[in-house]
Amino acid sequence: MTDILFAAAVFLALALLFVFLLYRRLLRRQRREMEAEREVSYRRRITPKMKQRILERDGYTCQICGISKDFMDELCPGLGDYLLLEIDHIESVASGGSGKDEDNLQVLCWRCNRKKGGELTNEEVLEEIDYGIDMLWPEDEEDDY
Ligand SMILES: [Zn+2]
Repeated sequence: MTDILFAAAVFLALALLFVFLLYRRLLRRQRREMEAEREVSYRRRITPKMKQRILERDGYTCQICGISKDFMDELCPGLGDYLLLEIDHIESVASGGSGKDEDNLQVLCWRCNRKKGGELTNEEVLEEIDYGIDMLWPEDEEDDY
C-alpha cells in the first residue's frame, strides 16, 4: 500500500514539475514577444522635430506622385494645409527599417502612403497610381518619369 502511495506522490511531484516548467517557458516566451514589440515601436516612433526636418528636406512634397503644399497653395491660398502629408519608412520597420535613420524616411501624401503599405517600393506604387496626378505632370514632361 505504501508503495502505491509513494508512486502516486512521485507521479504527482513530476506532474507538478512538468506543469511548472511549461508555465515558465510560456512566461519567458511572452516576455520575449513583449520586448520585441517594444523594440519595434521604438524604431517606428518619429519625433515631431524629426517629422518637421523631413518635411522641410522634402519640400512638403510627396516623393511618389509629386503633389505638394506649394502646388495646392497656388491653386488657392491656404489649400496646402488640407494636404495630409505623412512620414513614410522607405524600408518598413517590420522588415528592419528604422525611424531613427533619416535616410530611411520620406514624405508621402496619405494616398500614396496607403498604396505603398509595408511592401512596395516607390517605383511600384508609381506604376499603380490610378488617381488624378496628370495635372501635376504636364504632357511634355511625362516621358521623364
Ligand atoms: Zn502622393
